[in-house]
Order: sequence, then C-alpha cells, then structure tokens
Amino acid sequence: MYMSTDEIRRAFLEFFESKGHQIVPSSSLVPANDPTLLFTNAGMNQFKDTFLGAEKRAYTRATSAQRCVRAGGKHNDLENVGFTARHHTFFEMLGNFSFGDYFKEDAIKYAWEFLTDVLKLPKDKLMVTVYATDDEAFALWNEKMGIPEERIVRIGDNKGAPYASDNFWQMGDTGPCGPCTEIFYDHGDHIWGGPPGSPEEDGDRFIEIWNNVFMQFNRQADGTMEPLPKPSVDTGMGIERIAAIMQGVHSNYEIDIFQTLIKETAQVIGYEDLSNQSLRVVADHIRSCAYLIVDGVMPSNEGRGYVLRRIIRRAVRHGNKLGAQGAFFHKLVGPLAEIMGTAGEELKKQQALVEKVLKIEEENFGRTLDRGMQILNDALEGMDGKELDGETVFKLYDTYGFPADLTNDVARERGLTIDEAGFETAMEAQRQRAREAGQFGVDYNNVIKVDAPSEFTGYGATQGTGVIT
Ligand code: ATP
Ligand code: MG
Ligand code: MG
Ligand code: MG
Repeated sequence: MYMSTDEIRRAFLEFFESKGHQIVPSSSLVPANDPTLLFTNAGMNQFKDTFLGAEKRAYTRATSAQRCVRAGGKHNDLENVGFTARHHTFFEMLGNFSFGDYFKEDAIKYAWEFLTDVLKLPKDKLMVTVYATDDEAFALWNEKMGIPEERIVRIGDNKGAPYASDNFWQMGDTGPCGPCTEIFYDHGDHIWGGPPGSPEEDGDRFIEIWNNVFMQFNRQADGTMEPLPKPSVDTGMGIERIAAIMQGVHSNYEIDIFQTLIKETAQVIGYEDLSNQSLRVVADHIRSCAYLIVDGVMPSNEGRGYVLRRIIRRAVRHGNKLGAQGAFFHKLVGPLAEIMGTAGEELKKQQALVEKVLKIEEENFGRTLDRGMQILNDALEGMDGKELDGETVFKLYDTYGFPADLTNDVARERGLTIDEAGFETAMEAQRQRAREAGQFGVDYNNVIKVDAPSEFTGYGATQGTGVIT
C-alpha cells in the first residue's frame, strides 16, 4: 500500500488521537530553556519537564511530528549523510508519549497495531529488540503480539561492545532516559547487512524504524539514575524511514520528497546523474539549513550558528563539486517548502528571509572556495601518508573559511583523514597570539577573516550567540 510522506504523518497523528492522545505541534529546533541540548534531537525534548514531573499538562497522552536535527551533541549524524541509506541531518520524528499514563503493554500494542493494521506491514519482515534483561517486554512481544522468539533480540547498553546497537536511550548526558524496545524492518537479502545485534547490523538491510523508550530515570550529571515520578513512555519513528517502506524503496533518499528535491537540486546545479551522492548531501542539507533559519538560528562563528554555517558550507562545496556556477543553494528553499506538505507551512511564511540568509552566506563562501579547493587538492595530492597535516587544515580554516569537518569530508572522499589534534594545536597557538595582541577574552572562532561582519542581527532572534555546553 503506497502512502505519501504527508499521508503517513496524518495517519500517525490520527491513529494516536483515536487512542486518546493530544496532538501537539512540533516545537522549535532550538530547545526552549535547555542549555544541555544543541538542537532538538527527539520528539520527547519538548516534554522533558513533563517526564520529570516539573511541568503539569492538561493531558497525560500526547502525539507529535517533531522536526529534529542531529548534527552535533550526543546524537550527531552529519558524517553519516551520503554514506548510509537511513540518516539525515534533518528529519521528522513521529512520536507518542505517555506521562505516567500507560506503560510497556499499551506502548507495544499501539506500535504493533499501527504498523500491522493501519500500515499493513507484513509481520514477517519485522524484527524487534528488547533491553537485555527486560523479560516483560520480551514476553509482551512474544506471547501477546505473537512474534516468534527468533525474531526478538536482547540487546544491552553497549558498554564497550563492538556493535552499534544500544537499547538504553538517553536524550543527552543528563535528563530522562530508560531501557527501550526497537522495531526493525528487513528490506531483503539483496541488500548487505545483518539483523540487530549481529556484526553486520550497520549495513542497510535491517533498518531500525521505531524506538519505544520506557522512561524510568532522570540521569544526573554524576551518572546516578534518579527514578522518575512515574514510569512513562516516549517513542520515536523517523518518518522518512517508514515512508521508504510504504513507498517500496530501500533508501530514504528515494522517497517522494527526496526524489523531487534531488531532481530540483540537479536542475538548479545543471547536473544530470540523479544517483550522485553529492546531490543527496545537498538535498539533505537544505532541509536542516532552511529549518534552522526558520527557527531563528543565524550563521555565525560560534555555537549553533557555527553548526549551521558548517552545514551550509558543506552543501556549497558539494554543489561546487558538481559544477554549480554561482549561488544555487538558496534556490532550493521554494521547492522544499512545497514538498514538505503540512510541515512546510512555517517555511513558506519565512521563505524570503531564509533565501536571503542562505544567498549571502553562499556568496561569501564562494569568494574563497575555489582557491581553497585548489590548495586542498594540491596538498592531498602531494601527501606521503594517509593523514593531512594540521597546519594545512588550519590554514584552510583561517584563510579560506573551510571548517575542519569540510576539509575532512573532502579528504574522506579519497580515503584520507585529517590530523585533528594538529589542527587544534594550530588553533590554540592562534588564540594565544590573539590574546597577546591585546584581544583579551576574544575567542579566535570569532575572527575568521573570510567572513564579513554579521549582517543578520536585525532579523529578530539570533541563536548563534548561545554558548553550547
Ligand atoms: P540509528 O541507530 O539508525 O542511528 P538511532 O538509534 O540513533 O538510529 P533513535 O535515537 O532511537 O535513533 O531515534 C528514534 C528514531 O528516529 C529511529 O528509530 C529512526 O527511525 C529515526 N532516526 C534517528 N536518527 C535519524 C536520522 N539521522 N535520520 C533519519 N531518521 C532518524
Ligand atoms: Mg543514530
Ligand atoms: Mg539505533
Ligand atoms: Mg534507536
């Protein structure tokens, strides 16, 4: 049964509404009053204080389609974009939440009903994981939902284990957390990868679609686990991953919205091979950049604003690699707003601002990009070993505005790495020189030469100045 991304979002919210959940709009990508978090990384963020018992709401069940960015902090997928079929910097997380209302049994029942009754997914393509010692969740899946034992995998909290799996979810280093149960979909044996808990799990065959967290603790800075006032439920399902399944494609980048966005990107850049990875990267990055600006983040040299600037520059570099002539990135904002369906409404309202900010930013970087790429290419070609020296990485940063992760992205395309420690040393030496020159207290991050002084401060909320801890 084919469903568009927009239809899936609606079906999910309506399903949980029919189970007594209040539909709550997505919150901003900039977490309100939460200095522990760089960007909103999960649907539960806006309910953090409700889980902790510090905030009372008029309802005990909620559902949302939350925009998320994972490009820094505890959950960072920036380096995965363009390399896996399932990761974006920006994605939407569908979630249902119980604040001391239902717990394990109903959470599992609802998830299974939505997937197998509403979406009609074949049961034999689904696998689940439970927390290693959670016999209760195991029994619920096995006895009540009828999933055979061999398709239920016990996974712990991955302390030192070689695999990626982790069935203990935490928002960050502190905050609500608990054991979880996750649902995986098998895309078929023509794709490389193994089931969760196996050494090949990070392949793209078995894809994690839905995490159901049994919120029970509040993790303190010193690592102690304080029990929450009441056991609760927090779930998250990436809409792009479930859309891939409902649209009969394997990669998130082949779903309706990405197909259109990739075509638009190819057209704007003037490039024809739609399977090029750089097109995927640009299509991914326009979503995070546009929505970060919608939510008040402005490109800058520190904190959230610097993450935004880095993503923009990575996108511009990928476009440049495909032969883009001049500023192209901002031209994708209009198509994006159309494609996003009901989630595009806020973007539409701020389209002109978003375009303007992106255009200025890409034009600025465009002035030094070609020359910087020449220097980088020469350096990479003249290398003896596998690691680009920190001095060169620093020079590219300092003179040409190449964030270290962008240089790393270019090096990685050729199987090379960069000397990050050497870069930090060069950066620290420059900070020292700046201090000695009398700029006491000024972080060198603020004086990257290639950047024009901020022209964006007049647009209201600027988030780029927040200090991220
Ligand atoms: P993965 O192991 O694939 O990186 P995760 O375990 O980090 O995913 P969770 O923190 O459990 O993800 O988030 C809940 C759900 O959000 C995931 O099951 C997935 O459907 C979706 N999701 C997480 N990260 C991304 C991403 N970078 N892009 C798209 N969807 C994502
Ligand atoms: Mg992850
Ligand atoms: Mg996972
Ligand atoms: Mg997970």
